[in-house]
Amino acid sequence: MSVFANIIIDISLEKLDKTFQYRIPGTLGSLVVPGVPVKVPFGKGARTVRGYVLSLTDKPEIDESRIKDIISVEGTSEKKGAEEELLALAFWIKNHYGGTLSQALKVVFPVKKAVRVRESVNIVPLKSPEELKEAAREFGRKHNIARERALNALAESGEIDASLLRGKLNISNGVIKALEDMGYLSQEKSKKYRNPGIRAGEKSGISGFSEEQRKIYDSFCRDYDMGLRDTFLIRGVTGSGKTHVYIEMIDHVVRQGKQAIMLIPEIALTFQTVMRFHERFADRVSYMHSRLSPGERYDQFERAKNNEIDVMIGPRSALFTPFNNLGVIIIDEEHENSYKADNMPKYHARETAEKRAFLAGASLVLGSATPSVDSEYRARRGEYRLFTMESRPTGGSLPHVTVTDLRAELARGNKTMFSSVLRELMADRLEKKEQIMLFLNRRGYSGFISCRKCGHVIKCPHCDVSLTSHRDGYLTCHYCGYREKNVSLCPECGSKYIGGMRAGTEQVEEAVKKLFPGARVLRMDGDTVKKKEAYDEILSCFKDRRADILIGTQMIVKGHDFPGVTLVGMILADLSLNASDFRSAERTFDLLTQAAGRAGRGVTPGEVVIQTYSPEHYSIEAAAQQDYNMFYSKEIMFRELMSYPPVSHLLKVLVEGKREEAVNEEAEKLSKVAGEYLRSREDRNGSVIGPAPDNISKIKDVFRYVLYVKDPDYEVLSGIREELENDRRKEMRYGTIVSYDFDPQ
Ligand code: ADP
Ligand code: ZN
Ligand code: ZN
Repeated sequence: MSVFANIIIDISLEKLDKTFQYRIPGTLGSLVVPGVPVKVPFGKGARTVRGYVLSLTDKPEIDESRIKDIISVEGTSEKKGAEEELLALAFWIKNHYGGTLSQALKVVFPVKKAVRVRESVNIVPLKSPEELKEAAREFGRKHNIARERALNALAESGEIDASLLRGKLNISNGVIKALEDMGYLSQEKSKKYRNPGIRAGEKSGISGFSEEQRKIYDSFCRDYDMGLRDTFLIRGVTGSGKTHVYIEMIDHVVRQGKQAIMLIPEIALTFQTVMRFHERFADRVSYMHSRLSPGERYDQFERAKNNEIDVMIGPRSALFTPFNNLGVIIIDEEHENSYKADNMPKYHARETAEKRAFLAGASLVLGSATPSVDSEYRARRGEYRLFTMESRPTGGSLPHVTVTDLRAELARGNKTMFSSVLRELMADRLEKKEQIMLFLNRRGYSGFISCRKCGHVIKCPHCDVSLTSHRDGYLTCHYCGYREKNVSLCPECGSKYIGGMRAGTEQVEEAVKKLFPGARVLRMDGDTVKKKEAYDEILSCFKDRRADILIGTQMIVKGHDFPGVTLVGMILADLSLNASDFRSAERTFDLLTQAAGRAGRGVTPGEVVIQTYSPEHYSIEAAAQQDYNMFYSKEIMFRELMSYPPVSHLLKVLVEGKREEAVNEEAEKLSKVAGEYLRSREDRNGSVIGPAPDNISKIKDVFRYVLYVKDPDYEVLSGIREELENDRRKEMRYGTIVSYDFDPQ
């Protein structure tokens, strides 16, 4: 039994890692474990304060005679407050995902910073809603769409925070100023923190439920009121009324004096959604976004702790809102990659939400039009309750999708980027003054090699992911390190049209300008939108119909409504399909489905063209038919066959360092340790893959090697992570940095 406990006194202190040492009296013995609250004497006069045990040790850090005793262990049987709940969550994150406790604490507790009083600007309408709407119509007739949009929003919302108009509706300061000069509104500075929407709650535009909605809501409430806490997965097509169901579920929980957290990817949180929540919950709802300063984030959390709000909406980090009596967590668009943290600890918000819901006694609701394979798998195994919504209460038809085979285009002598179908449709839309989006997804693009004649892609014989070409003339697998010599002729058909795909958004832009010199073209990608303002500027320019064609990466796919768009073209679906990781088909299906959803948001039905060299791939066929079940059944077979998550678990171990030799050596060493661990447990289901250079093998002169461990049992992988950490600590190998990613995205 340990002699001393390291105790943290004030969780919200700036230095979270600052702990104080106390002696564990024999009488308390085994009660003192990490995470429990204790009473200790503290400071001058030794007043009694509450602290939390972070760790136990036998090593005194100061002169032993100065170490005081713990007074008592606080009862743990009663309901935990937010702080204890979150502390337990931090411990869980550390154990589940690796990293240090201090890293986990920093994720869970925002740092206390002096809160700069935000000077927010409120926009106050000076005319009645009817007059505003009339004026909006007038601006619309003059094609002054930004003013039309601003006045319509103002008519709907009443007084409103300027940042909401700017950020969510892409209304520029210039437009606001112009409308002010014309006497439609005034801008008022207010020092006090205020919520964005001001209209009082209890109002909802929708009366009643559709049958599908009613079924879900009733099941949720029945279970909830009986004290059952489940995880629900709602698979509902876009526009099927999921958000309406979320609002009613939250309302049910809030009426019982509990609170709710709703996670939504920032980019998908539209102005309309914010306003819908405000209509119902008025100033009892708050929302977070990534551009909040640490002080503002802290301020939001204080409001939650002080019971000033019932509902928090926000991205991943909103999950840690310190509500004392959390009743439900909702994760919308649960399949999104942004729910996985990109720094250590690499926690997944969905898994972490499951844990928090458990600790808090809350229910968890997941929703998506295209659920992640992970969630669908759990639902089908009965771990989640699955509900589907297939109809749209407001009607609206799905867009028409055409898949064009680029191999056939090549055979006909068309060597341009555009199939004849896409080219004709583009000409048609330009003629009709309708808008077009062209989409080229390069994220995860890894330099795979494929044949433009037959569509063949060169893959790793062991991992079934595409190989990546390297400058040394070899093709490499980023999972297992398998290498083979690059080819100049297609091994399938003997064609010389084999090689990498070098299409970028700039090339698309050039090609469009050549083909349609009169068209007004905008391009949006990592280069053109280094700054947030540039991003907003491009979007509002397109929204206001000051351009005909928007070309972009995945950035343009999500969240934005462009009613003028009636044609969406996917230039090269293969780019994401052949990314060298096991989730590439899933990502392609999501992207294509979502991109298709961009077409025809307005009154005119939309048209979608998917261009590809592999039209027979199931993720493309399924996306074209908008058939989730078809996609899932094929995809899960692949995961089963190859033992990839969710059927099995995968731990990615990343070794980084300045000297390549040392990095490689360390990766080899860890690979051996992991292998020995599996052998010592006679675990024949687990395997170690690699090491190999990572997908990105070098960043800023730091070399990166990876190894993967597969095992159906998550605990085994956890054990291996611990074993690897111990091994490194034992020999004090500090020349390299090692990080861990469970079931990587
Ligand atoms: P989702 O979140 O699934 O995309 P929403 O909840 O945003 O769907 O609903 C889509 C549209 O349908 C919204 O305009 C919403 O107001 C409307 N709607 C939702 N439920 C109903 C209903 N029961 N009756 C009428 N309209 C509804
Ligand atoms: Zn070929
Ligand atoms: Zn391989």
